[in-house]
Amino acid sequence: MNLSIVDALQSIKSTGICLLTGARSSLVYIFAIISVALFFVNITPASLTDYAVLPEAVDSAAKYRGQPTKKTDYSRFHGELQAGDTLDDTLRQAQINAEDRHRIISALDELLDLRALRPRDRFMAVFDHHDTVVEYRYQAGPLDIYRVQRTTDDVFQAEKMNVALERKTKKISAEVESSLFAAFKTHGEKARLVYSFADIFSSRMDFNAEIRAGDRFQLIFEKYYQGGEFVGYGPIIHARYQQARGEVFEAFRFESSGNPAAYFDADGRELAANFLRSPVPMARVTSGFTRGRKHPILNEVRPHLAVDLAAPAGTPIKATADGRIIFREGNGDNGNLVVLEHSDGYFSYYAHLSSFEEGLKVDDRVLQGDIIGFVGSTGLATGPHVCYRIRRHGEYINPMKLSFKPRSVLKGEVLAHFREQVEDTIRLAKNLDRTDRQVMTSRITVTPDYRPTLL
Ligand SMILES: [Zn+2]
Repeated sequence: MNLSIVDALQSIKSTGICLLTGARSSLVYIFAIISVALFFVNITPASLTDYAVLPEAVDSAAKYRGQPTKKTDYSRFHGELQAGDTLDDTLRQAQINAEDRHRIISALDELLDLRALRPRDRFMAVFDHHDTVVEYRYQAGPLDIYRVQRTTDDVFQAEKMNVALERKTKKISAEVESSLFAAFKTHGEKARLVYSFADIFSSRMDFNAEIRAGDRFQLIFEKYYQGGEFVGYGPIIHARYQQARGEVFEAFRFESSGNPAAYFDADGRELAANFLRSPVPMARVTSGFTRGRKHPILNEVRPHLAVDLAAPAGTPIKATADGRIIFREGNGDNGNLVVLEHSDGYFSYYAHLSSFEEGLKVDDRVLQGDIIGFVGSTGLATGPHVCYRIRRHGEYINPMKLSFKPRSVLKGEVLAHFREQVEDTIRLAKNLDRTDRQVMTSRITVTPDYRPTLL
């Protein structure tokens, strides 16, 4: 094994140095980044806080008193956690006395990780007309509301509350005119849904480079609301992308027992491949794989048996397949270099890193998509990029031309179960087409035992 590492590192030297080239492609790249950034300016800020306000507490406070009361008998204090605040700080703000603070914290400590509270979480305290606290609620997210109530026996009892949500199942069918972002925006949908959609097909197409006007797409997904306010997206159930040039990709979400949900084509082949298309999905190819090119600085023909991917310094780099770290340190012209060993004789190389992902070391196993380091320009590089190589049985191969192999293929009973679910999804699509705006609404209750997956 050591031999093959040495061999691998030696042969990396003979494949030529790689440089960030092409002012024109950098400009295109910068333009793409700016367009995405502008899109976010419009879209993201609201989504950070777009969960509903804490529900009314007056009724439960009245229950504690065991008698009908007027709302004016109770007063409420509403607040929001600031950076650096503890739970105790929120209770102090509400002017709750030391003894009650201590009892409320003890009660909540059983249910909630008090060290993981996040700024902008909301809280509320309810007081009776003696200014005694009778209830305290802490909202750690749209689906996570905790309640502490003073009982008639004068003890504090904490529970996680059920949350009623409205679920909208929605279908979108559209044609791409400029970008996928623009097409989703027309339908009033947010960036994270676009990313989720693009991610499903990331092994098959690069939505930065390969999208064309006239492409068509379709998806069925869920949206959750609380009291009319948008809480979050549920998973995409079905997605389809039809390129204008004729190729069609289709994906059905499927969860078999014991496995995380994944996307499969209609024949039960997983959409995800054994290798990701790129270790830096948003990056631009600035220098492709070639057995002979004129070197921009040395001015002589040299092979570049790698792909250079330019991205801002510090952009995370992902392991493109499950594997094991066999090299992770500075390596001359390669700068900071990570080498992974995979099954079937494959190795992948990631050069010029600004830094390595902390906590990893040689011999550690990594999964596809795990972050292994960050884009930089260490070693011989004229700008921040990652030089990405794939080697198999001693030979470098073009990472962009890796033949597609599904990560998994459904078989037997699981496949039969999957096919039934595909039929259900097709029926659902037809039913949605019959509705007014391709939306169906239902109600669900989030309980400590059931919560939907949010994107
Ligand atoms: Zn290179």
